[in-house]
Amino acid sequence: MNADAVRHIFVVGAGTMGSGIAQVAATSGFQVTVMDVAPEQLSRAQETIARSTEKLLAKGKITEAQREAALSIRYTTDMDAAAEADFCIEAATEKVDIKERIFQDLDRIVRPEVILATNTSSIPITRLAAVTQRPEKVIGMHFFNPVPLMALVEVIRGLQTSEETARTVHDLARRMGKTPVEVRDAPGFIANRILMPFINEAIFALQEGLATVEDIDTVARLGFNHPMGPLALADLIGLDVVLFILEVLHRDLGEDKYRPAPLLRQLVLAGQLGRKSGLGFYDYRENPKGVPRRFR
Ligand code: NAD
Repeated sequence: MNADAVRHIFVVGAGTMGSGIAQVAATSGFQVTVMDVAPEQLSRAQETIARSTEKLLAKGKITEAQREAALSIRYTTDMDAAAEADFCIEAATEKVDIKERIFQDLDRIVRPEVILATNTSSIPITRLAAVTQRPEKVIGMHFFNPVPLMALVEVIRGLQTSEETARTVHDLARRMGKTPVEVRDAPGFIANRILMPFINEAIFALQEGLATVEDIDTVARLGFNHPMGPLALADLIGLDVVLFILEVLHRDLGEDKYRPAPLLRQLVLAGQLGRKSGLGFYDYRENPKGVPRRFR
């Protein structure tokens, strides 16, 4: 199916990424339905989208009509609603069994010509494609957080993904105002393959006492012109997510250079996961911007 034939996009998963993808799809002129197994996640997504589009409207980044479109997104707990979709994108919890089940269900429910995309960060596209009867129509469409603000989409072709499917997804990404980059199906794709070892090395440097949290981040901000340092970024992503992706890189690429820093493991074991838990490399409990912590 080519991108011009796509009118109705079905998003599976209403979390951080699913709500962002749904918002951007709606403000880009697509009719959107969001499905989640958890009704409270659907209400939360609806509130997040209302708040985000209100801010974007106030800043003049979107029009009143685009906000109206975002407020017209449909929410459901019923996967069968995918029968009306022209394009599906899955952004559910990063667990292989959950995603395989979703791909089997979508494959059964949606029309045969419809493309099934996944926003996975670490599961091989080829593996999800293999549980369907349409592996040539399964593809990775990896957005970045926060979706309304981040311009990049990694487009990942599995072993059997067709040229036509890849072309359609490139076109759809552009229609959503994003810049697509094509990447082969390998652990971490490109972004995480570069970013995670960078963050990990910063944690090793901290653990070895080479510099403070603040100074390590200052090096990246002023030395490389990064908008935020690797430790602050790790806190934003979630230290559990960083550890999980490093473990995938370490296991699947089999090289020591991806070995997660012991300090990262300790923080995750202690439940100190970054911004979302109030403590990570910075302390956010009294100051939402975060105060750098001392490690020994
Ligand atoms: P999240 O935990 O915020 O949301 C996941 C949602 O999936 C939840 O609302 C959950 O209820 C729902 N869900 C679970 N099982 C389901 C099922 N069977 N059917 C429908 N919905 C189901 O997670 P997230 O951060 O939005 O991540 C979603 C996906 O996007 C993951 O694959 C993740 O690797 C990927 N990703 C995340 C980021 C990020 O920065 N958070 C960036 C790029 C890609």
